[in-house]
Amino acid sequence: MMSLVETKRLRGAVARGCAVSLVLVARLAFGAEPRSDQAAFDIIRNGDPNCSIVIAEHPTPAARLAALELQYHFLRIAGTEVPIRSEGQEVHGPRILVGESRLTRQLGFRSADLEPQEYLIAFRPNTIVLIGRDWEDTELNRKVQGRFIGGESLQELRQKVDYWKTVGCPERSTGTMELPGVYDDQGTCLAAYDFLERCCGVRWYGPTESTLVIPAARTLRAGGDDIRRAPALKHRGALVSCSWPFLRGQWGEFSREQLYLHWRRLRAGGERWAANHTFFPQTIKTTFTDPAYQCQKPRGRGSQLCYSNPKLVNQVTRMARDYFDGTGDLPEGWKAAGDYFAIVPDDNINLCNCEACRALLKQGASRKTGFFSSGEMSDYWFSFVNAVAREVGRTHPGKFIATLAYWSYALPPGFALEPNVSVSPCLHTCLYAIHDGARENDLKLYRGWLKQTKAPMFLWVYYHHPMEPALIERWKCFPNVMVHQTAKTMQMFTRDNVRGIFECGEQDQLEQYILAKVWDDPTVNVDGLIEEFFRLYFVAAGEPMQKFYLGLEAIACNPANYPPPYHRSNGIDWKGVAWAELGTAERMAELGKLIAQAETLAQTKSEKQRVAAWRGAFWDWMRQGRDEYEAGLRKGR
Ligand SMILES: [Zn+2]
Repeated sequence: MMSLVETKRLRGAVARGCAVSLVLVARLAFGAEPRSDQAAFDIIRNGDPNCSIVIAEHPTPAARLAALELQYHFLRIAGTEVPIRSEGQEVHGPRILVGESRLTRQLGFRSADLEPQEYLIAFRPNTIVLIGRDWEDTELNRKVQGRFIGGESLQELRQKVDYWKTVGCPERSTGTMELPGVYDDQGTCLAAYDFLERCCGVRWYGPTESTLVIPAARTLRAGGDDIRRAPALKHRGALVSCSWPFLRGQWGEFSREQLYLHWRRLRAGGERWAANHTFFPQTIKTTFTDPAYQCQKPRGRGSQLCYSNPKLVNQVTRMARDYFDGTGDLPEGWKAAGDYFAIVPDDNINLCNCEACRALLKQGASRKTGFFSSGEMSDYWFSFVNAVAREVGRTHPGKFIATLAYWSYALPPGFALEPNVSVSPCLHTCLYAIHDGARENDLKLYRGWLKQTKAPMFLWVYYHHPMEPALIERWKCFPNVMVHQTAKTMQMFTRDNVRGIFECGEQDQLEQYILAKVWDDPTVNVDGLIEEFFRLYFVAAGEPMQKFYLGLEAIACNPANYPPPYHRSNGIDWKGVAWAELGTAERMAELGKLIAQAETLAQTKSEKQRVAAWRGAFWDWMRQGRDEYEAGLRKGR
């Protein structure tokens, strides 16, 4: 069982000067009263730095980034530089110890005593410790292979940035650096980011300058109980690329480097895992060339294989073993990461029609649901998955064969799964608020998998409706704001011990932010975060903007607003319902008033800029949608 959020209080000064292990410290110190001398630590006093940031002689990539992030945000808060020193240099006065170093070891704090992704924020006299388990930059670690959902390698996700240029201080540039990989351990960064949010009031609502909330202060004081925890969800696959209009408009222009930094600040990444199509023309051409297992259906040739063929089972087993042994290269376009080797058929149903394949397909024919997520192919596909898993399990206990539960193989099969099969159901979360049938069909298969799988379970969640069809077919959808539904659904998944989630698609700025926060801690106060966002972000214009946003949600999430014929048994006619039922003339008039009110109330340059960004992203889009709809009515369409 995966432990959820773990917040242990490590109080007192038991660890001072003694090199006992962290675990022991936790036990000894638990429950002791905080000492007054460590309750307050002045990082900056009256505009002057009052401490140093101290890192190891050879810091981990995470510690290096964490130190820079602290320095930058302190600079922004008080306009003064808190120096970064190496443990080898003489350091006088209070210090913030970032990542493991000789100094943290003297206090009893070692990275190795923490679980992956676990981190510690500890307050000791004249000392703050920010430490977690970090990936070490060694030749051996760099050799480890991994390819993620889009086929990107571990190394490609260790992006390089010019840090100071990226944060808007090019005059301080010291050249480019490599960021800790998205899927490399970076517990020290998790500690630093949590510290900046919790103790310094920093909020990252987006990657751009105008989307940051950084309070200004002459004196910055931190203190309190120690915090030892880890993000609840272990794989946080929300590497939003901001390709859709709402987020793009709300964030404003940004660079790739700013985006890379933003992913880390929102704690995207985590445990290594991947599952997506692995058999498709590219991999078949390069890797699966044996005529013995080619697909017997002419239309499926070169895209699917004969998944009942023992020769194919043998070859894939060998590939999985080589991967887990660290020998042999993963083919371009394959997906495997950490303890998970993925196998998923191509995205079509042009399946082999040899006798053996036909028999397995026939076996599942009764498992149709009438929804996109169905089960007529489940017995066929999971027979193959089981065959590979059984073989790999013999030689590689503790490793997993990952696969999706998707489309015609979304339902569990009519037999038990091998214990080392890690399944990722694909769920239509963007329909949950408004389509009972689709939601219940999803939840039934989701619970079926939960009950039947012994391996860690992951999810692929869809957030692509209605925006994706709207962009492809060039019409304007009503914004499908569903922040409360998303939070509720994600809370359920994390409570059920789902290990990781991949978000397919993207939502608006605030919903993306809330999603990241709930993934980190499902007990977070969602309404509190929403209220805080509007207060900090729009300030004087906060109230009408909040009413506007929650107004969109109330419309989009009310099932009564999707009557037939827009409500279909297996989905929604998004185009039809958008302006006929959701964005009606009356509602548009009400929403328009709120935007006008916000524009009047916005005081500062940044408030005005943010209101304008939201107006451009949401309101102008909606106005255009409504206008196009009315023009269509006039033409009698
Ligand atoms: Zn076949």
